[in-house]
Amino acid sequence: MKQRGSILWLTGLSGAGKTTIAKGVAQELQKRNYLTEVLDGDIVRTYLSQGLGFSKQDRDTNVQRIGFVANLLSRNGIIAIAAVISPYRQVREELKQTTTNFIEIYVQAALAVCESRDVKGLYAKARAGQIKHFTGISDPYEEPINPDIICQTDQFTVEQCVNQVLHYLETQGLISTDFLDRS
Ligand code: ADP
Repeated sequence: MKQRGSILWLTGLSGAGKTTIAKGVAQELQKRNYLTEVLDGDIVRTYLSQGLGFSKQDRDTNVQRIGFVANLLSRNGIIAIAAVISPYRQVREELKQTTTNFIEIYVQAALAVCESRDVKGLYAKARAGQIKHFTGISDPYEEPINPDIICQTDQFTVEQCVNQVLHYLETQGLISTDFLDRS
């Protein structure tokens, strides 16, 4: 059967768990021979979006570029998994409207939890004023109003969150039902 492409768009604060869940989902899908590609915000910024900063306009441009690439992949049958803070609602909504099989996944954890994880040491720098425009500290994050999935990473394990995404894909007919047997 030909694989159906889709865009799994993971949005949320820095340290919420987007990269971790994206990698986990990709790994599970690859095990089952699905073609996937992870577009990670941090990595994309060094290539596709090199030179863009963190103003609203630059952040929106970053999201549009990643969305454009994700759509190219998706329409060729690949499951594109984007892990991008993407703090502004409107540009996410635009992507939802202009692409097919766009699944918005809100990777959610309390700011205090993200900050205590401080995976990349960025919150400490933001609090010290060494990084300007830091989402959640000195820049806005607009929560999705009606996301397709909410992964609450301060309440569930990585494995549970990954399974939540896989189950959703299954219920949407985007992947086969194998996953239902797993939990
Ligand atoms: P982001 O990509 O959103 O900036 P990361 O994935 O880099 O976040 O970091 C998230 C951190 O939170 C990792 O250290 C990860 O192990 C931890 N974590 C704890 N629980 C979860 C969960 N349920 N889902 C994702 N990450 C989790």
